[in-house]
Amino acid sequence: MRHQQQQQPLLKKKPAPIVIEEEEDEEVPRMVPYYEQQEEDAEALRSKDWVTEANKQDEEEGYSSDEEQGAAAEEAPALVDLEDMVFAPKKVKEEGPKKMLTDPLRKALTKQNYKLIGTHSAVKMCRWTKSMLRGRGGCYKHTFYGINSHQCMEATPSLACANKCVFCWRHHKNPVGREWRWATDPPDMIVTQALEKHTNMIKEFKGVPGVIPARFAEGMRPAHCALSLVGEPIAYPYINDLCNMLHQRQISSFLVTNAQYPDKIRDMDPVTQLYVSIDAATKDTLQEIDRPLFKDFWERFLASLDELSRKGQRTVYRLTLVKKMNMDEIRDYVGLIARGKPDFIEVKGVTYCGTSNSGDKSGLTMNSVPYHEEVVEFTQMLCEQTAGDYEVASEHAHSCCVLIANKKKFFKEGEDGAEGEWHTWIDYPKFHQLAASGEHFTSKDYMAPTPDWAVMGHESGGFAPYETRHKRQGSKMVPVVGGC
Ligand code: SF4
Repeated sequence: MRHQQQQQPLLKKKPAPIVIEEEEDEEVPRMVPYYEQQEEDAEALRSKDWVTEANKQDEEEGYSSDEEQGAAAEEAPALVDLEDMVFAPKKVKEEGPKKMLTDPLRKALTKQNYKLIGTHSAVKMCRWTKSMLRGRGGCYKHTFYGINSHQCMEATPSLACANKCVFCWRHHKNPVGREWRWATDPPDMIVTQALEKHTNMIKEFKGVPGVIPARFAEGMRPAHCALSLVGEPIAYPYINDLCNMLHQRQISSFLVTNAQYPDKIRDMDPVTQLYVSIDAATKDTLQEIDRPLFKDFWERFLASLDELSRKGQRTVYRLTLVKKMNMDEIRDYVGLIARGKPDFIEVKGVTYCGTSNSGDKSGLTMNSVPYHEEVVEFTQMLCEQTAGDYEVASEHAHSCCVLIANKKKFFKEGEDGAEGEWHTWIDYPKFHQLAASGEHFTSKDYMAPTPDWAVMGHESGGFAPYETRHKRQGSKMVPVVGGC
């Protein structure tokens, strides 16, 4: 349905801190509530030293240490192909490459409700998938791009990553590494098992009070895949095959990379939406926040943005705002936007999963979390400095997230005095048609109108009118966590 939109004033009221209701875990007895998992994760994060852990793992497996690999990286050309990097194991392993998932890691991740696939992949049920199955609202991607959260599968083909970001509470259980050095599972096996394990999780909601039967039936047919669960999906050697297999099944792909593998970005076939995480705008801050393994992380980061600017399909910068860490570098962010020319910029307040304000080794506390109002203010300041090229288009106040869009591409002026309208939503059938054609296409070829309720300034704050806000009496309030 098309809607005429009026550019409305941005948020005026002072919103409360973003909170959600406790999940009704008694309805799904076999699933651990997400906030309990994450408190457990945060506790483990506080008690671990990441770099030491990663080095220890390398040592045990016979790989060179971070320092040795860093030295090799400095000697190597600034940007080399992932597969060409010479970080050879110290020991020759007659039995072939190691499996990424060791038994202890498998046990730890299983305990956190990851459904593991083969030796390096996983799916996990997102809280927004559960929420939309019950008609209690979708995630920010529902508001910004029109995905159905109850038809979304959150997955990764690589649990390993080349960064140890301060706000990634999952990394204490996940491997880190610069290059793909593990045994490799085939993409068809990963896709098949991911869908099987995901739909098995959906099946657990059959007949659960509050679950809408029609939504349940739709949920059994995934239509979107968020390749952002954890780790660095683009490092998986067959990432193109995997995404194409999703598209063949009419499943859209939202792929997030940490901008450390520019050549892999260059070589990516079209995905529905390609993200890079922009966790800071300067070299020093990026090092402080992402704690990258690569010594040439900044050059890799900038080269990744250059490659992104050459992609024809939808591209997104994902900014995670942390107070007193990365919110004061507006001009530097503007420089990065000019460089990578993303179609969209998602700006989200950091999620803190700890239980007190005392902080942890990451330096994060509840005071690091910006209010939604502060995120909105940040986006306005950012847009002001882009000379009108970008404008705030949408918000999902519930998850403290704001969407900035390239106005020239995604705002269509009305004809004959009619009001214009944003087109941030995606025409998914059209995308699949274009992807299957093998012809060149661009982000403008599969955009769709944004409904009124999802446009910035609407009183709903990005909550769909056909969903019902849920409030459970006497429940404990916890910070918004989960999602991707
Ligand atoms: S938050 Fe991410 S994983 Fe969850 S439904 Fe939305 S897009 Fe999918």
